[in-house]
Amino acid sequence: MTHDTYVDGAWKASHTRDRVDVINPATEERVGSVPAGAAEDVDAAVAAAHRALDDWARRDPADRARLVTRLADELERSQDELTDLVVAEVGTPRRVARWAQVGFGILDLRSAVDGARQITWEQPVGNSLVLREPAGVVGCITPWNYPLHQITAKIGAALCAGCTVVVKPSEVAPLTALALARAVHEVGFPPGVFNLVNGYGTRVGEALAAHPDVDMVSFTGSNAVGRRVLALASGTVKKVALELGGKSASVVLDDADLERAAAFTVRSCFLNAGQSCNSQTRMLVPRGLLRETEALVTRAVAAYVPGDPLDESTRIGPLVSHVQREHVLEYIRQGMGGARLVTGGPQPPAGLPRGYYVKPTVFSDVPPGLPIAQEEIFGPVLSMIPYDSQDEAVALANGTVYGIAGAVWSEDRDRALATARRLAAAQVEVNGGRFNPAVPFGGYKQSGLGREGGVYGVEEFLQLKSLQL
Ligand code: NAD
Repeated sequence: MTHDTYVDGAWKASHTRDRVDVINPATEERVGSVPAGAAEDVDAAVAAAHRALDDWARRDPADRARLVTRLADELERSQDELTDLVVAEVGTPRRVARWAQVGFGILDLRSAVDGARQITWEQPVGNSLVLREPAGVVGCITPWNYPLHQITAKIGAALCAGCTVVVKPSEVAPLTALALARAVHEVGFPPGVFNLVNGYGTRVGEALAAHPDVDMVSFTGSNAVGRRVLALASGTVKKVALELGGKSASVVLDDADLERAAAFTVRSCFLNAGQSCNSQTRMLVPRGLLRETEALVTRAVAAYVPGDPLDESTRIGPLVSHVQREHVLEYIRQGMGGARLVTGGPQPPAGLPRGYYVKPTVFSDVPPGLPIAQEEIFGPVLSMIPYDSQDEAVALANGTVYGIAGAVWSEDRDRALATARRLAAAQVEVNGGRFNPAVPFGGYKQSGLGREGGVYGVEEFLQLKSLQL
Protein backbone atom coordinates (compact mmCIF):
# COMPACT_ATOMS: atom_id res chain seq x y z
CA MET A 1 0.00 0.00 0.00
CA THR A 2 1.36 3.40 -0.97
CA HIS A 3 1.56 5.93 1.81
CA ASP A 4 0.73 9.28 0.26
CA THR A 5 -1.49 10.99 2.78
CA TYR A 6 0.44 13.11 5.28
CA VAL A 7 -1.36 13.38 8.61
CA ASP A 8 -0.14 14.22 12.11
CA GLY A 9 3.49 14.40 11.06
CA ALA A 10 3.57 10.96 9.39
CA TRP A 11 2.82 9.29 6.05
CA LYS A 12 -0.37 7.23 6.17
CA ALA A 13 -2.34 5.02 3.81
CA SER A 14 -5.60 6.44 2.48
CA HIS A 15 -8.89 4.88 3.60
CA THR A 16 -9.57 4.03 -0.03
CA ARG A 17 -7.71 1.79 -2.47
CA ASP A 18 -9.09 3.73 -5.49
CA ARG A 19 -6.43 5.79 -7.19
CA VAL A 20 -6.20 8.62 -9.72
CA ASP A 21 -3.54 8.48 -12.45
CA VAL A 22 -1.36 11.52 -13.08
CA ILE A 23 -0.66 12.05 -16.78
CA ASN A 24 2.29 13.88 -18.35
CA PRO A 25 0.56 16.26 -20.81
CA ALA A 26 3.53 16.32 -23.21
CA THR A 27 3.90 12.53 -23.53
CA GLU A 28 0.37 11.41 -22.53
CA GLU A 29 2.09 8.82 -20.30
CA ARG A 30 1.22 8.01 -16.70
CA VAL A 31 3.81 9.52 -14.35
CA GLY A 32 2.28 8.56 -11.02
CA SER A 33 -0.93 8.19 -9.07
CA VAL A 34 -2.53 9.35 -5.83
CA PRO A 35 -5.44 8.07 -3.75
CA ALA A 36 -8.90 9.08 -4.93
CA GLY A 37 -9.48 10.16 -1.32
CA ALA A 38 -12.07 9.46 1.33
CA ALA A 39 -14.01 11.47 3.90
CA GLU A 40 -12.24 9.43 6.63
CA ASP A 41 -8.87 10.78 5.41
CA VAL A 42 -10.24 14.29 5.86
CA ASP A 43 -11.58 13.45 9.34
CA ALA A 44 -8.16 12.18 10.45
CA ALA A 45 -6.33 15.21 9.02
CA VAL A 46 -8.76 17.72 10.52
CA ALA A 47 -8.54 16.00 13.91
CA ALA A 48 -4.72 16.22 13.79
CA ALA A 49 -4.86 19.89 12.76
CA HIS A 50 -7.30 20.55 15.59
CA ARG A 51 -5.05 18.92 18.18
CA ALA A 52 -2.03 20.89 16.98
CA LEU A 53 -3.82 24.24 16.89
CA ASP A 54 -3.63 25.40 20.49
CA ASP A 55 0.13 25.04 20.82
CA TRP A 56 0.89 26.43 17.35
CA ALA A 57 -1.45 29.41 17.78
CA ARG A 58 0.15 30.37 21.11
CA ARG A 59 3.75 30.13 19.87
CA ASP A 60 5.85 33.23 19.43
CA PRO A 61 5.18 34.43 15.83
CA ALA A 62 8.96 34.62 15.34
CA ASP A 63 9.21 30.85 16.02
CA ARG A 64 6.56 30.12 13.41
CA ALA A 65 8.29 32.42 10.92
CA ARG A 66 11.59 30.62 11.52
CA LEU A 67 10.06 27.27 10.53
CA VAL A 68 8.39 28.78 7.44
CA THR A 69 11.75 30.29 6.44
CA ARG A 70 13.39 26.88 6.84
CA LEU A 71 10.70 25.42 4.59
CA ALA A 72 11.53 28.05 1.95
CA ASP A 73 15.24 27.13 2.31
CA GLU A 74 14.41 23.45 1.94
CA LEU A 75 12.39 24.10 -1.24
CA GLU A 76 15.25 26.18 -2.59
CA ARG A 77 17.59 23.22 -2.08
CA SER A 78 15.23 20.94 -4.05
CA GLN A 79 14.44 23.50 -6.76
CA ASP A 80 15.56 21.25 -9.63
CA GLU A 81 13.56 18.25 -8.42
CA LEU A 82 10.46 20.43 -7.93
CA THR A 83 10.88 22.00 -11.38
CA ASP A 84 11.03 18.56 -12.99
CA LEU A 85 7.87 17.48 -11.16
CA VAL A 86 5.91 20.54 -12.33
CA VAL A 87 7.15 20.04 -15.88
CA ALA A 88 6.00 16.41 -15.74
CA GLU A 89 2.54 17.03 -14.31
CA VAL A 90 1.57 20.44 -15.80
CA GLY A 91 3.67 20.68 -18.97
CA THR A 92 5.02 24.15 -18.16
CA PRO A 93 8.31 24.61 -20.07
CA ARG A 94 11.27 24.03 -17.78
CA ARG A 95 12.71 27.53 -18.30
CA VAL A 96 9.36 29.03 -17.21
CA ALA A 97 8.60 26.51 -14.44
CA ARG A 98 11.87 27.31 -12.69
CA TRP A 99 10.79 30.91 -11.86
CA ALA A 100 7.00 31.05 -12.38
CA GLN A 101 6.20 27.78 -10.61
CA VAL A 102 8.97 26.97 -8.14
CA GLY A 103 10.53 30.43 -7.75
CA PHE A 104 7.15 32.01 -6.93
CA GLY A 105 6.40 29.18 -4.51
CA ILE A 106 9.55 29.99 -2.50
CA LEU A 107 8.85 33.73 -2.76
CA ASP A 108 5.33 33.20 -1.31
CA LEU A 109 6.81 31.72 1.87
CA ARG A 110 9.42 34.45 2.27
CA SER A 111 6.86 37.17 1.58
CA ALA A 112 4.51 35.70 4.23
CA VAL A 113 7.36 35.79 6.75
CA ASP A 114 8.03 39.46 5.90
CA GLY A 115 4.29 40.16 6.05
CA ALA A 116 3.89 38.55 9.48
CA ARG A 117 6.64 40.82 10.84
CA GLN A 118 4.41 43.80 10.02
CA ILE A 119 1.41 42.49 11.99
CA THR A 120 0.51 44.33 15.19
CA TRP A 121 -0.55 41.31 17.22
CA GLU A 122 -1.80 43.34 20.22
CA GLN A 123 -2.95 46.94 20.19
CA PRO A 124 -4.25 49.04 23.11
CA VAL A 125 -7.37 51.02 22.11
CA GLY A 126 -8.78 53.18 24.95
CA ASN A 127 -9.66 50.85 27.81
CA SER A 128 -9.28 47.77 25.55
CA LEU A 129 -6.63 45.49 24.15
CA VAL A 130 -7.30 44.39 20.56
CA LEU A 131 -5.77 40.99 19.72
CA ARG A 132 -5.14 39.44 16.35
CA GLU A 133 -5.64 35.68 16.67
CA PRO A 134 -5.38 32.86 14.11
CA ALA A 135 -8.57 31.91 12.27
CA GLY A 136 -8.08 28.25 13.36
CA VAL A 137 -7.95 25.08 11.27
CA VAL A 138 -7.79 26.02 7.58
CA GLY A 139 -8.75 23.81 4.64
CA CYS A 140 -6.72 24.78 1.56
CA ILE A 141 -8.13 23.58 -1.77
CA THR A 142 -5.91 24.31 -4.77
CA PRO A 143 -5.86 24.01 -8.59
CA TRP A 144 -3.40 22.36 -11.01
CA ASN A 145 -2.09 25.37 -12.94
CA TYR A 146 0.58 26.41 -10.39
CA PRO A 147 0.53 23.32 -8.15
CA LEU A 148 3.23 24.51 -5.73
CA HIS A 149 2.74 28.29 -5.83
CA GLN A 150 -1.03 28.05 -5.21
CA ILE A 151 -0.40 25.99 -2.06
CA THR A 152 2.50 28.05 -0.71
CA ALA A 153 0.53 31.29 -1.24
CA LYS A 154 -1.95 29.90 1.30
CA ILE A 155 0.13 27.91 3.76
CA GLY A 156 2.93 30.50 4.13
CA ALA A 157 0.42 33.08 5.32
CA ALA A 158 -1.77 30.63 7.28
CA LEU A 159 1.17 29.05 9.17
CA CYS A 160 2.73 32.45 9.96
CA ALA A 161 -0.67 33.60 11.24
CA GLY A 162 -0.78 30.63 13.65
CA CYS A 163 -3.34 28.49 11.81
CA THR A 164 -2.92 24.78 11.18
CA VAL A 165 -3.72 23.50 7.69
CA VAL A 166 -5.19 20.60 5.75
CA VAL A 167 -4.15 20.87 2.10
CA LYS A 168 -6.13 19.29 -0.74
CA PRO A 169 -4.19 19.70 -4.00
CA SER A 170 -5.67 19.20 -7.45
CA GLU A 171 -5.90 15.52 -8.40
CA VAL A 172 -4.71 16.57 -11.89
CA ALA A 173 -1.26 17.71 -10.62
CA PRO A 174 -0.68 16.39 -7.08
CA LEU A 175 2.98 15.28 -7.28
CA THR A 176 4.56 18.62 -6.39
CA ALA A 177 2.38 18.77 -3.27
CA LEU A 178 3.79 15.39 -2.17
CA ALA A 179 7.30 16.84 -2.53
CA LEU A 180 6.20 19.87 -0.50
CA ALA A 181 4.96 17.58 2.28
CA ARG A 182 8.32 15.77 2.26
CA ALA A 183 10.01 19.16 2.71
CA VAL A 184 7.64 20.01 5.58
CA HIS A 185 8.59 16.71 7.23
CA GLU A 186 12.29 17.39 6.72
CA VAL A 187 11.98 20.82 8.39
CA GLY A 188 10.27 19.26 11.40
CA PHE A 189 7.06 21.20 11.88
CA PRO A 190 5.14 19.97 14.94
CA PRO A 191 2.86 17.03 14.02
CA GLY A 192 -0.58 18.13 12.78
CA VAL A 193 0.41 21.68 11.84
CA PHE A 194 0.56 20.72 8.15
CA ASN A 195 -1.53 17.88 6.73
CA LEU A 196 -2.02 16.74 3.13
CA VAL A 197 -4.98 14.75 1.82
CA ASN A 198 -5.10 13.77 -1.85
CA GLY A 199 -8.14 12.91 -3.91
CA TYR A 200 -11.05 14.13 -5.97
CA GLY A 201 -12.73 17.44 -5.20
CA THR A 202 -16.11 15.81 -4.91
CA ARG A 203 -14.83 13.48 -2.17
CA VAL A 204 -12.03 15.29 -0.34
CA GLY A 205 -12.75 18.92 -1.25
CA GLU A 206 -16.42 18.71 -0.31
CA ALA A 207 -15.67 16.90 2.96
CA LEU A 208 -13.16 19.61 3.87
CA ALA A 209 -15.41 22.54 2.94
CA ALA A 210 -18.30 21.13 4.94
CA HIS A 211 -16.32 19.81 7.93
CA PRO A 212 -17.60 21.20 11.25
CA ASP A 213 -14.06 21.39 12.74
CA VAL A 214 -12.63 23.40 9.85
CA ASP A 215 -12.79 27.10 10.72
CA MET A 216 -11.83 28.55 7.37
CA VAL A 217 -11.60 27.42 3.76
CA SER A 218 -9.16 29.03 1.37
CA PHE A 219 -10.00 27.96 -2.18
CA THR A 220 -8.35 28.67 -5.52
CA GLY A 221 -10.01 27.34 -8.65
CA SER A 222 -12.96 27.77 -10.97
CA ASN A 223 -16.02 29.90 -10.26
CA ALA A 224 -18.39 26.95 -10.42
CA VAL A 225 -16.50 25.05 -7.72
CA GLY A 226 -15.90 28.26 -5.75
CA ARG A 227 -19.67 28.78 -5.47
CA ARG A 228 -20.08 25.15 -4.37
CA VAL A 229 -17.39 25.60 -1.67
CA LEU A 230 -19.09 28.79 -0.46
CA ALA A 231 -22.41 26.96 -0.19
CA LEU A 232 -20.88 24.00 1.67
CA ALA A 233 -18.98 26.30 4.06
CA SER A 234 -22.15 28.22 4.87
CA GLY A 235 -23.49 25.19 6.78
CA THR A 236 -21.11 25.94 9.64
CA VAL A 237 -20.57 29.67 8.90
CA LYS A 238 -16.90 29.28 8.03
CA LYS A 239 -14.73 32.11 6.89
CA VAL A 240 -14.12 31.64 3.14
CA ALA A 241 -11.42 33.06 0.87
CA LEU A 242 -11.86 32.50 -2.87
CA GLU A 243 -9.39 33.06 -5.72
CA LEU A 244 -11.37 32.38 -8.89
CA GLY A 245 -11.30 33.00 -12.62
CA GLY A 246 -10.41 36.05 -14.71
CA LYS A 247 -10.69 37.73 -18.10
CA SER A 248 -8.16 40.49 -17.67
CA ALA A 249 -7.80 43.35 -20.15
CA SER A 250 -4.69 45.09 -21.42
CA VAL A 251 -5.88 48.62 -22.20
CA VAL A 252 -3.73 50.27 -24.87
CA LEU A 253 -4.26 54.04 -24.99
CA ASP A 254 -3.61 55.99 -28.21
CA ASP A 255 -0.23 57.34 -27.04
CA ALA A 256 1.14 53.93 -25.94
CA ASP A 257 4.44 52.37 -26.92
CA LEU A 258 2.69 49.79 -29.12
CA GLU A 259 5.66 47.48 -29.51
CA ARG A 260 6.15 47.13 -25.75
CA ALA A 261 2.41 46.83 -25.16
CA ALA A 262 2.17 44.04 -27.73
CA ALA A 263 5.21 42.17 -26.34
CA PHE A 264 4.05 42.37 -22.70
CA THR A 265 0.41 41.50 -23.43
CA VAL A 266 1.46 38.47 -25.45
CA ARG A 267 3.81 37.38 -22.67
CA SER A 268 1.04 37.68 -20.09
CA CYS A 269 -1.56 35.94 -22.25
CA PHE A 270 0.59 32.95 -23.25
CA LEU A 271 2.48 32.35 -19.99
CA ASN A 272 1.90 28.75 -18.86
CA ALA A 273 -0.01 28.15 -22.15
CA GLY A 274 -2.64 30.67 -21.05
CA GLN A 275 -3.42 28.72 -17.90
CA SER A 276 -3.03 31.57 -15.40
CA CYS A 277 -5.95 33.26 -13.63
CA ASN A 278 -4.45 36.73 -14.22
CA SER A 279 -3.60 36.24 -17.93
CA GLN A 280 -4.30 39.33 -20.00
CA THR A 281 -6.57 37.60 -22.49
CA ARG A 282 -8.20 40.73 -23.92
CA MET A 283 -6.32 43.55 -25.62
CA LEU A 284 -8.29 46.76 -26.07
CA VAL A 285 -6.87 48.87 -28.91
CA PRO A 286 -7.85 52.26 -30.44
CA ARG A 287 -9.65 51.40 -33.71
CA GLY A 288 -7.21 53.43 -35.82
CA LEU A 289 -4.21 51.51 -34.41
CA LEU A 290 -5.72 48.03 -34.69
CA ARG A 291 -3.91 46.83 -37.85
CA GLU A 292 -0.54 48.13 -36.71
CA THR A 293 -0.99 46.48 -33.29
CA GLU A 294 -2.10 43.19 -34.86
CA ALA A 295 1.16 43.08 -36.84
CA LEU A 296 3.20 43.67 -33.67
CA VAL A 297 1.22 41.03 -31.76
CA THR A 298 1.66 38.52 -34.57
CA ARG A 299 5.40 39.12 -34.53
CA ALA A 300 5.54 38.62 -30.75
CA VAL A 301 3.43 35.43 -30.92
CA ALA A 302 5.79 33.95 -33.53
CA ALA A 303 8.31 33.38 -30.71
CA TYR A 304 5.79 31.08 -28.98
CA VAL A 305 6.20 27.85 -30.94
CA PRO A 306 4.62 24.94 -29.02
CA GLY A 307 7.24 22.38 -28.12
CA ASP A 308 8.67 19.87 -25.66
CA PRO A 309 8.62 21.45 -22.17
CA LEU A 310 11.94 19.75 -21.37
CA ASP A 311 13.68 21.66 -24.17
CA GLU A 312 15.23 24.78 -22.62
CA SER A 313 14.32 26.87 -25.68
CA THR A 314 10.56 26.10 -25.43
CA ARG A 315 8.34 28.99 -24.32
CA ILE A 316 4.96 27.30 -24.61
CA GLY A 317 4.16 23.70 -23.79
CA PRO A 318 0.99 21.62 -23.94
CA LEU A 319 -2.24 22.26 -22.04
CA VAL A 320 -2.59 20.24 -18.86
CA SER A 321 -5.01 17.58 -20.12
CA HIS A 322 -7.03 16.20 -22.98
CA VAL A 323 -10.17 17.67 -21.37
CA GLN A 324 -8.60 21.13 -21.17
CA ARG A 325 -7.44 20.98 -24.81
CA GLU A 326 -10.94 20.05 -26.02
CA HIS A 327 -12.44 22.86 -23.94
CA VAL A 328 -10.04 25.42 -25.45
CA LEU A 329 -10.47 24.13 -29.03
CA GLU A 330 -14.23 24.53 -28.65
CA TYR A 331 -13.74 28.23 -27.84
CA ILE A 332 -11.39 28.65 -30.81
CA ARG A 333 -13.96 27.07 -33.16
CA GLN A 334 -16.67 29.34 -31.72
CA GLY A 335 -14.40 32.37 -32.18
CA MET A 336 -13.95 31.55 -35.89
CA GLY A 337 -17.72 32.12 -36.24
CA GLY A 338 -17.80 35.68 -34.90
CA ALA A 339 -14.31 37.17 -35.01
CA ARG A 340 -11.35 37.43 -37.41
CA LEU A 341 -8.53 34.90 -36.91
CA VAL A 342 -5.15 36.65 -36.94
CA THR A 343 -2.89 33.71 -36.13
CA GLY A 344 -3.19 30.16 -34.75
CA GLY A 345 -6.46 28.23 -35.03
CA PRO A 346 -7.88 24.83 -34.11
CA GLN A 347 -5.52 22.63 -36.19
CA PRO A 348 -2.88 20.76 -34.16
CA PRO A 349 0.59 22.36 -34.25
CA ALA A 350 3.02 20.70 -36.68
CA GLY A 351 5.53 18.07 -35.62
CA LEU A 352 3.95 17.12 -32.28
CA PRO A 353 2.22 13.74 -32.68
CA ARG A 354 1.74 13.37 -28.92
CA GLY A 355 0.76 15.84 -26.20
CA TYR A 356 -2.16 18.19 -25.57
CA TYR A 357 -0.81 21.07 -27.65
CA VAL A 358 -2.82 24.01 -29.00
CA LYS A 359 -1.50 26.73 -31.34
CA PRO A 360 -1.22 30.15 -29.71
CA THR A 361 -4.26 31.86 -31.22
CA VAL A 362 -5.16 35.52 -31.72
CA PHE A 363 -8.53 36.87 -32.83
CA SER A 364 -9.21 40.48 -33.77
CA ASP A 365 -12.29 42.66 -34.31
CA VAL A 366 -13.81 40.55 -31.52
CA PRO A 367 -17.35 41.71 -30.64
CA PRO A 368 -17.25 42.36 -26.86
CA GLY A 369 -20.27 40.16 -26.19
CA LEU A 370 -18.79 37.05 -27.82
CA PRO A 371 -17.98 34.17 -25.40
CA ILE A 372 -14.25 34.43 -26.30
CA ALA A 373 -14.36 38.05 -25.06
CA GLN A 374 -16.40 37.33 -21.92
CA GLU A 375 -15.54 33.87 -20.58
CA GLU A 376 -12.36 32.49 -19.08
CA ILE A 377 -10.88 30.10 -21.66
CA PHE A 378 -7.78 29.05 -19.69
CA GLY A 379 -5.76 28.42 -22.84
CA PRO A 380 -3.55 30.33 -25.29
CA VAL A 381 -6.20 32.59 -26.86
CA LEU A 382 -6.01 36.40 -27.12
CA SER A 383 -9.01 38.54 -28.14
CA MET A 384 -8.20 41.96 -29.64
CA ILE A 385 -11.10 44.37 -29.31
CA PRO A 386 -11.18 47.82 -31.00
CA TYR A 387 -12.60 50.87 -29.21
CA ASP A 388 -13.43 54.46 -30.16
CA SER A 389 -13.00 56.48 -26.94
CA GLN A 390 -11.12 56.19 -23.67
CA ASP A 391 -14.41 55.93 -21.75
CA GLU A 392 -15.47 53.08 -24.00
CA ALA A 393 -12.14 51.34 -23.33
CA VAL A 394 -12.73 51.52 -19.56
CA ALA A 395 -16.32 50.29 -19.95
CA LEU A 396 -15.13 47.35 -22.09
CA ALA A 397 -12.34 46.51 -19.63
CA ASN A 398 -14.89 46.46 -16.80
CA GLY A 399 -17.55 44.71 -18.88
CA THR A 400 -17.14 41.12 -17.66
CA VAL A 401 -18.08 39.42 -14.39
CA TYR A 402 -14.38 39.10 -13.53
CA GLY A 403 -11.85 41.49 -11.93
CA ILE A 404 -8.49 39.92 -11.07
CA ALA A 405 -6.01 41.93 -13.09
CA GLY A 406 -5.40 44.30 -15.98
CA ALA A 407 -2.85 46.53 -17.66
CA VAL A 408 -2.74 50.08 -18.96
CA TRP A 409 -0.35 51.43 -21.60
CA SER A 410 0.24 55.16 -22.17
CA GLU A 411 3.36 57.32 -22.52
CA ASP A 412 1.61 59.86 -20.27
CA ARG A 413 2.06 58.42 -16.77
CA ASP A 414 -0.73 60.49 -15.19
CA ARG A 415 -3.16 59.44 -17.87
CA ALA A 416 -2.15 55.79 -17.41
CA LEU A 417 -2.61 56.04 -13.62
CA ALA A 418 -5.99 57.78 -13.95
CA THR A 419 -7.16 54.96 -16.25
CA ALA A 420 -5.74 52.26 -13.94
CA ARG A 421 -7.73 53.74 -11.05
CA ARG A 422 -10.93 53.30 -13.06
CA LEU A 423 -10.42 49.57 -13.69
CA ALA A 424 -12.49 47.20 -11.55
CA ALA A 425 -9.60 44.80 -10.92
CA ALA A 426 -7.45 43.98 -7.91
CA GLN A 427 -4.08 44.34 -9.69
CA VAL A 428 -3.22 46.62 -12.61
CA GLU A 429 0.17 46.77 -14.35
CA VAL A 430 1.01 50.27 -15.54
CA ASN A 431 3.33 50.27 -18.57
CA GLY A 432 4.57 46.78 -17.74
CA GLY A 433 5.13 47.26 -13.97
CA ARG A 434 6.48 43.97 -12.68
CA PHE A 435 4.87 41.46 -10.29
CA ASN A 436 5.28 42.22 -6.58
CA PRO A 437 4.65 39.34 -4.12
CA ALA A 438 4.24 41.73 -1.15
CA VAL A 439 1.04 43.40 -2.38
CA PRO A 440 -2.58 42.17 -2.39
CA PHE A 441 -3.59 39.66 -5.06
CA GLY A 442 -7.20 38.62 -5.46
CA GLY A 443 -10.41 39.41 -7.21
CA TYR A 444 -12.96 42.18 -7.63
CA LYS A 445 -16.50 41.10 -8.52
CA GLN A 446 -16.87 37.36 -9.24
CA SER A 447 -13.11 36.76 -9.29
CA GLY A 448 -13.12 36.14 -5.58
CA LEU A 449 -13.19 37.09 -1.93
CA GLY A 450 -10.16 38.06 0.14
CA ARG A 451 -6.54 38.66 -0.77
CA GLU A 452 -3.25 36.76 -0.83
CA GLY A 453 0.27 38.28 -0.68
CA GLY A 454 2.51 39.86 1.96
CA VAL A 455 0.97 41.26 5.12
CA TYR A 456 -2.46 41.36 3.42
CA GLY A 457 -2.34 37.61 2.89
CA VAL A 458 -1.43 36.98 6.55
CA GLU A 459 -4.28 39.24 7.74
CA GLU A 460 -6.71 37.05 5.80
CA PHE A 461 -5.95 34.19 8.24
CA LEU A 462 -6.46 36.26 11.40
CA GLN A 463 -9.51 37.21 13.43
CA LEU A 464 -9.93 40.07 15.87
CA LYS A 465 -10.68 39.89 19.58
CA SER A 466 -11.00 42.78 22.02
CA LEU A 467 -10.42 42.58 25.76
CA GLN A 468 -12.09 45.34 27.79
CA LEU A 469 -9.81 46.27 30.69
P1 NAD B 1 -11.31 23.50 -10.22
O1 NAD B 1 -12.28 24.47 -9.67
O2 NAD B 1 -11.80 22.44 -11.13
O3 NAD B 1 -10.54 22.73 -9.06
C1 NAD B 1 -9.88 23.42 -8.03
C2 NAD B 1 -9.77 22.52 -6.82
O4 NAD B 1 -11.10 22.28 -6.31
C3 NAD B 1 -9.17 21.15 -7.12
O5 NAD B 1 -8.39 20.75 -6.02
C4 NAD B 1 -10.41 20.26 -7.21
O6 NAD B 1 -10.17 18.90 -6.92
C5 NAD B 1 -11.32 20.88 -6.16
N1 NAD B 1 -12.74 20.60 -6.33
C6 NAD B 1 -13.39 20.21 -7.46
N2 NAD B 1 -14.71 20.02 -7.20
C7 NAD B 1 -14.89 20.31 -5.89
C8 NAD B 1 -16.03 20.33 -5.03
N3 NAD B 1 -17.23 19.99 -5.48
N4 NAD B 1 -15.87 20.71 -3.74
C9 NAD B 1 -14.64 21.07 -3.28
N5 NAD B 1 -13.53 21.06 -4.04
C10 NAD B 1 -13.64 20.69 -5.33
O7 NAD B 1 -10.18 24.39 -10.93
P2 NAD B 1 -8.94 23.90 -11.76
O8 NAD B 1 -9.43 23.41 -13.07
O9 NAD B 1 -8.07 23.03 -10.93
O10 NAD B 1 -8.15 25.29 -11.96
C11 NAD B 1 -8.47 26.20 -12.95
C12 NAD B 1 -9.30 27.34 -12.38
O11 NAD B 1 -8.63 27.92 -11.26
C13 NAD B 1 -9.48 28.48 -13.35
O12 NAD B 1 -10.82 28.91 -13.33
C14 NAD B 1 -8.57 29.56 -12.81
O13 NAD B 1 -8.91 30.87 -13.15
C15 NAD B 1 -8.65 29.33 -11.36
N6 NAD B 1 -7.48 29.93 -10.70
C16 NAD B 1 -7.62 31.08 -9.98
C17 NAD B 1 -6.52 31.69 -9.40
C18 NAD B 1 -6.63 32.95 -8.61
O14 NAD B 1 -5.69 33.27 -7.87
N7 NAD B 1 -7.70 33.68 -8.70
C19 NAD B 1 -5.28 31.10 -9.53
C20 NAD B 1 -5.16 29.93 -10.27
C21 NAD B 1 -6.28 29.35 -10.84
